[in-house]
Amino acid sequence: MKISNSAKRIEPSLTRMLFNKAAQYNDVIDFTLGDPDLNTPESICNAAIDSILKGKTKYSANAGLFELRQVISDCIKSENDIYYNPSDEIIVTVGAMQGLYLSLFCILDEGDEVIIPAPYWVNYKHIVEMCKAKPVIIDTEEQNGFKVDINDLSKAVTSKTVAVILNSPNNPTGAVYDKETLEKICDLANEKSLYIVWDECYKSLTYDDEFVSILDCSIKKENVIVVNSCSKKWAMTGWRIGYVAATKELVYNMVKLQENMVACAPLPSQYAAIEAFKNGNNSTAFNVEFRKRRDLFVNEINKIDGLSCLKPKGTFYAMVNIKSFGLSSEEFSLKLLEQQHVAVVPGITYGKCSEGYVRVAYTTNEKNITEGIRRIKLFVDSLNAE
Ligand code: PLP
Repeated sequence: MKISNSAKRIEPSLTRMLFNKAAQYNDVIDFTLGDPDLNTPESICNAAIDSILKGKTKYSANAGLFELRQVISDCIKSENDIYYNPSDEIIVTVGAMQGLYLSLFCILDEGDEVIIPAPYWVNYKHIVEMCKAKPVIIDTEEQNGFKVDINDLSKAVTSKTVAVILNSPNNPTGAVYDKETLEKICDLANEKSLYIVWDECYKSLTYDDEFVSILDCSIKKENVIVVNSCSKKWAMTGWRIGYVAATKELVYNMVKLQENMVACAPLPSQYAAIEAFKNGNNSTAFNVEFRKRRDLFVNEINKIDGLSCLKPKGTFYAMVNIKSFGLSSEEFSLKLLEQQHVAVVPGITYGKCSEGYVRVAYTTNEKNITEGIRRIKLFVDSLNAE
């Protein structure tokens, strides 16, 4: 029977392939998935339990509970000094993933182009393709801290370009955009009437530099779509709560689509999110924990002959440069898994320019990180001895 071309075009993810293969071994150190091993803070869990016990288990408004939109609006106001009206400029979504899908679905027609800097989170490319638009990939370089070069970006803009997707702090590289670069991108977006789809899901996980949001720069409000999530900030990946802040016109259209896609985000999760926004201070503790893990991982990996790794400025990911071994990133990852039972993601997953790298998610504890590094060293020693 028929399968649509849109469905067929989406390639299965290498991250999942590695994750599934890793499940064959019972002593794997798993550095593949962006799912922290920390638990959702108790008060957030209790808010959901309480809502369930009180029978708050029905549909909410398509845009999400007003109280949740209100605390999201307050949060943006206090962090960026910009007012998004909770009544019609914010929509609660099923994770940032659905927020991205709704956003792109609302702005793209067949044949439109969306610029995505590589290395990229692979879902961006797939979601653009699901909207029948064309992802236009521009490469970034390790020497530039994996940040977009404004000249490359300008050159990629055509009459069909509708949007640029930017993610800071960045998955997979850990790069955090600085104000100067962002201002240049804003100038371009304002001048060419482009949307910036600004994914700041990892904003609470920034270690060295102050995080700069595009909302702190001179982007016009009508040119920006802000996507964020509770997933990484409060270890709430399974609760599936994200949001989009955008113009009234966009949110109006997203709400219409929402009614047809999922009706609303799960109600108990929305109550949990209200508690997270109001009282969820644990994100600072998460930040301290991930900074320790980052320092441990990067310092130790850089001591291994043939490997190198830029210190990520945010997220819980790092790109390890494996170019000196002359193996493809997929070969390197598969051999490492088979020989030492350490799972990492081949760089090629994130675009051609990240061939020669593997991505590591330090979402596991320090003991596992130390053991993982010991095994990576054994593996690399064996390659060096070949
Ligand atoms: N954006 C980026 C860059 C991500 O890495 C992820 C998840 O890994 C998401 C968005 C989606 O997050 P959510 O769990 O809120 O759907």
